This record gives sequence, C-alpha cells and structure tokens, in this order.
Amino acid sequence: MSQRALITGGASGIGLGLARRFAAQGDRVALCDADGDAVERVAAEMPDAICMKADVTDAGQMDAFLSQVEDSWGGVDVVCANAGTGGPAGRIEDLNYDAWQACLAVNLNGAFLTCRWAARIMRAQKSGCIVITSSTSGQWGHPYRSPYAAAKWGLVGLTKTLAMELGPVGVRVNAICPGAVEGDRMDRVVAMEAKASNRPEQDVRDQYVRGVSMRTWVTVDDLADTVLFLASPAASKISGQIIAIDGHTETNAP
Ligand code: NAD
Repeated sequence: MSQRALITGGASGIGLGLARRFAAQGDRVALCDADGDAVERVAAEMPDAICMKADVTDAGQMDAFLSQVEDSWGGVDVVCANAGTGGPAGRIEDLNYDAWQACLAVNLNGAFLTCRWAARIMRAQKSGCIVITSSTSGQWGHPYRSPYAAAKWGLVGLTKTLAMELGPVGVRVNAICPGAVEGDRMDRVVAMEAKASNRPEQDVRDQYVRGVSMRTWVTVDDLADTVLFLASPAASKISGQIIAIDGHTETNAP
C-alpha cells in the first residue's frame, strides 16, 4: 500500500536517497531542505513530490512546510527527521559558542520541530513510523567533534523517549546510526578533521575503516534499505531501537 513519506534535509545526500527510494516503490514524498537550489533540482526530478525550501531550525518555515503537507495529505505515515550538519571540528577549548549552538540547532532542534508535528498527527491517526538520523557519533564519543556527538547522542534520547510516549497508540520511533557514508559530505568532514587534528587526510580516511569490523564505508542505499524496512509492515513490532548501519564500529578514536 502506498505510504506518505516526509523527509527533512531531503534535497541531497542521504535524504535525497531516501526520497528516491520511497518514490521508486510508489510512495508519496514530501521533503524540505535549507538549500533552495537543491530543492528546485529535486522538484524538477520529482514533479509529484511536495518540495519546499525550509530550514529545520526555523519554526515559521517548518510550520509553513508541515502545514502544506498536512493540508495536501491529511496525514503522514513515515517521517524521517534526517536534516543534520557536521558542526565544527576542534578541541573543545577552541570551539566557538555560536558554532556549538548552530550544530545543536540543526541536529536537535530541527528534529524536535519535525517530531512534534509528526507525533500530533500520528497520535490522532493511531499509526505511523518516525525514523531519526543519528550517527555512529551517537553511540561513541567522537574526538574533535563534540557538538556533533552531543547532538547525535541527544537524538538517541529523543528516540527512546518518543518510542515510550507514542508506543501505546501504535506509533513506532527508531533511530538509524550511519557509519561513514561514501559521498561529498564525508569528503568535507575528512578534510575538516584532518586540519583540526593536524593529520594527513588519508590517515583520517583510513581511521574510519580501521575502527570498523567489516572494514567498510556504507552507501546511501545501505541506509535506504534499512529505512524502507523500518517503514514497512515487516517491522511492525520494532520500536525504540538505535540501529547502526556501519559494518560494526569497534572504536571511533583516532
Ligand atoms: P548532506 O550534507 O549530504 O545532506 C544534508 C542535507 O540537509 C543537505 O541537503 C542540506 O542542505 C540539508 N540541511 C542542512 N541544514 C539544514 C537545515 N537547517 N534545514 C534544512 N535542511 C538542512 O549530509 P548527509 O550525509 O546526507 O546527512 C544526512 C544526515 O545523516 C545528517 O543528519 C547527518 O548528520 C547524518 N549522518 C551522515 C553521515 C555521513 O557519513 N554522511 C554519517 C552519519 C550520520
């Protein structure tokens, strides 16, 4: 049966991969993203999708996006609180307070606004599935990325709590923890971490594989496989789980 799937940060990377995979299996898709050009590109690629420029940290913009979805669909089946940002890299004593707050705002406040809306709709319809994108950094410490790790651990707390609040009405809430995902974003992260820790980029890149049992990075499709499963009836009793898709991380330390 066709689902209605909403994705934040859906105009590139993992979010776009999720949007494409939901659309490919015949689901209706709504996405928002702070990058207006990227939103326009996706709107051209997926003319049937609801695509809107909206910053997940801006309550007014999110209200406009979510209201449009609610008016168009009258409900929602799957909500992926996916928008995130890597935040600054560096020793905590060198980090700027504004950069700390900006990182928490996108990763945590954005998920709050998204999940608050999803919870209201899903509680009323007594069904639905929320998938929150945490990270390996939400299961391990991440040296030189303290704002990101703090935000991603915060999302684990949000997931466990919402699973408890919404479970009694049949709504499921899970988090995915991607390992290092092949693509532009990790290229940027590797460059930033190499600079912050004064190491060659290749050293940082190798570190992501060294600490993983399966010695692998992951692909957007690896993540989409899990999210589509979580959203399906096959996962009807899975809630409150923090699911790593990472080839099994043994250590996140440099
Ligand atoms: P990405 O940078 O490729 O895509 C993120 C998208 O979110 C972009 O389109 C960006 O414009 C959008 N975005 C950023 N800030 C936003 C905001 N304030 N409001 C709305 N949209 C915003 O990154 P990605 O790899 O696709 O990351 C998606 C999620 O996966 C993030 O939560 C990230 O932390 C998480 N994650 C990524 C990796 C990885 O290796 N790429 C690993 C673990 C977790």
